[in-house]
Amino acid sequence: MRKKPEKLKQRRLVSVIAAAISILAVISIFISVSMLSKANVLKFELSKFLALNGSLQENVEALTQSVRGLEEENKRLKNRNAELEDAIEELKRRNEELEQANLALQQQIEQRRRSYRTEVLHGLVDIQELDPSIIVDLRYASNNNFMGFQIYPDNSRAYLRRETAVKLLQASEIFKKDGYYIKIWDAYRPLSAQKIMWEHSPLPGYIANPDNGSKHNRGAAVDITLVDKEGNELEMPTGFDDFTEKAARDYPHHSAEAKKNMDYLTQVMNSCGFKGIRTEWWHFEDIDARNYPLLDIGLDSF
Ligand SMILES: [Zn+2]
Repeated sequence: MRKKPEKLKQRRLVSVIAAAISILAVISIFISVSMLSKANVLKFELSKFLALNGSLQENVEALTQSVRGLEEENKRLKNRNAELEDAIEELKRRNEELEQANLALQQQIEQRRRSYRTEVLHGLVDIQELDPSIIVDLRYASNNNFMGFQIYPDNSRAYLRRETAVKLLQASEIFKKDGYYIKIWDAYRPLSAQKIMWEHSPLPGYIANPDNGSKHNRGAAVDITLVDKEGNELEMPTGFDDFTEKAARDYPHHSAEAKKNMDYLTQVMNSCGFKGIRTEWWHFEDIDARNYPLLDIGLDSF
């Protein structure tokens, strides 16, 4: 009888163990199924992530290309901008040049208008305006003269009677062909300036008495010398307004070179309708000078 309960006990134990094993199997199956399902979900998520990553990489590449394109465009625009700034600078410079040229032209027009007015009103013309190769060095518009002080206004210009100017222009052409240029020390001289000279130095033979007037006061005489192509004065008997016998045409001791140059100057001037005077080699007057009136129009009124 004791064996029967033992066996029963054993059977129950086996049953319990079997049940436990079954439960464990079920649990393990459940866990396996659950994990498998989770793995699938993760796999799905991973594939979604990979797809998204691929798409993002494509986007990044597209953006990189676009940035590169923009950088190139930016570089091109910067270059273009620099070119345009250079062009603006060039235009500004050109504009300044044109403004200066315009100003110079306006001054020329104003000068021409004044000259025309002077010619119409007084019969006097601006000799340098008619022949710019003629050099003008009006000594009485500076202190560099026999009086030592200025009697003409600053920036005075050389005026002559229109008819006398025509003759001087002819002479200028002949000198130029020979390689020389006229230099004017004095031309038209207002009568009031003649009076100042006479009061300072009443030297008959050199300074004309203002009561009679000088041919200069008629705009019909010039005091000139010649310069070469470099602007150097040719050797002549004396300097300007040297009121000594050395300035006389017939002074016997001129150097050969001075005499040759004086004779050449005189010969050309005579051939164009001027005559010289004995005492001053530089002075030439229009042979028709007496036809023109004595004038006392100030050189600053032209
Ligand atoms: Zn003179």
